[in-house]
Amino acid sequence: MRAARYLAKFSLPAVSVLSMASPPSTLDLIEEIRGRLARVVDPELGRNIVELGMVGDITVSPEGAAKIEIALTTAACPLRGQIENDVHRAIERLDGISSVSLSMVAMDPVAKAALMDTARRFAQEEAPLTTIPPHARILGISSGKGGVGKSSVTVNLAITLARLGHCVGILDADIWGFSVPRLLGLDGGVEAKAGKMQPRELAVERGSLKVLSMGFLAEEDTAIMWRGLLLSKALQQFIEDADWGDIDYLLIDLPPGTGDIQMGLARLLPRTELLLVTTPPLAAQKVAARAADMARRGNLRVAGVIENMSTFTCAHGESYALFGEGGGQRLADDLGVDLLGSIPLDPSLVAGGDAGTPIATGDSATALRFQELAQLLTDSVAPLGARGGCSARMLDALDRAVALSERASN
Ligand code: ADP
Repeated sequence: MRAARYLAKFSLPAVSVLSMASPPSTLDLIEEIRGRLARVVDPELGRNIVELGMVGDITVSPEGAAKIEIALTTAACPLRGQIENDVHRAIERLDGISSVSLSMVAMDPVAKAALMDTARRFAQEEAPLTTIPPHARILGISSGKGGVGKSSVTVNLAITLARLGHCVGILDADIWGFSVPRLLGLDGGVEAKAGKMQPRELAVERGSLKVLSMGFLAEEDTAIMWRGLLLSKALQQFIEDADWGDIDYLLIDLPPGTGDIQMGLARLLPRTELLLVTTPPLAAQKVAARAADMARRGNLRVAGVIENMSTFTCAHGESYALFGEGGGQRLADDLGVDLLGSIPLDPSLVAGGDAGTPIATGDSATALRFQELAQLLTDSVAPLGARGGCSARMLDALDRAVALSERASN
């Protein structure tokens, strides 16, 4: 006799199309199995495997042999063994089931994208309240390893967005290697008003920057002593106990790789999208794997890749690919996202950082590359709603004030 079968493969949650020929007892068993599988929680995503769409076909033979298909985000999922054990434990000693065989398969890209969307939605529903306005776009600037220019990209991109008229927050979450204060020529601490940390503010043409960094709270050599829980707590305070005000973008300079800070960020601000910074060498597979792992474990969307230290152009206009070529495109292809821009290797960028006047404040060829990148972000990759930038809102406020005073004097 034909086994009953759930045809709604990997659907969220189960919608069954039942075979008319199946005996009701077998169907009941399948229902019971699915119910029990809803108790198995994916340890990373914190949700049960049925609602995450990880349970595929379930069949039960008339002799009681159950076959269950479980789809994992990747075949080499490090938690595979744990999930297998949990599934076996959930359905052991089920009356009418004589044996259980599991088939662990890898999700196709469409199912994987659907799972990530579902997990993100759940995370957003559970995210704590923060002081960051709901309309602000949050971009985590991240890299697989240190020294690729992540902080330089963060600061220069933030300045360029501010020059376009936006209010841009910079949260320097690179706790061990914070360099944002130095790159912006800022020193000293932060003030608190009404129990909230006040980010340091800088006017930049039509827009502004608001900056918070561990560098305002700790000396460079003491920050290294901070560990795990304390660090996550510091990040939490930067997010929950700081007065960010009305910002359009928040750029978060993340420590390289995967760790407590990334996990904390995924929990506190699950709407964060990652911009991955990488360098041109092609032999950066490990870095790519680390970056992909970070996005997967944190369940954060990768908005795109930025290649830094790309082709160097000398004063005579000749170009040299000193560090090789193609690393940015390769990482983007591996992750299935776009390469959003390439920033050339440029000694003036180093000099600008050392002097506290980042290169993006000027109009050099490198500054232009940041302008193209910022334009791409605001136009299509991370556009704002129809609110306009800082200046537009200030003008709105001014118009309203003038209208009010005119009404008062009439
Ligand atoms: P990360 O945050 O990834 O550790 P940094 O932004 O601190 O990297 O940059 C590391 C070093 O590389 C710094 O000395 C910085 O000035 C330099 N650097 C960054 N980007 C470039 C570039 N495009 N051209 C030349 N030097 C760069």
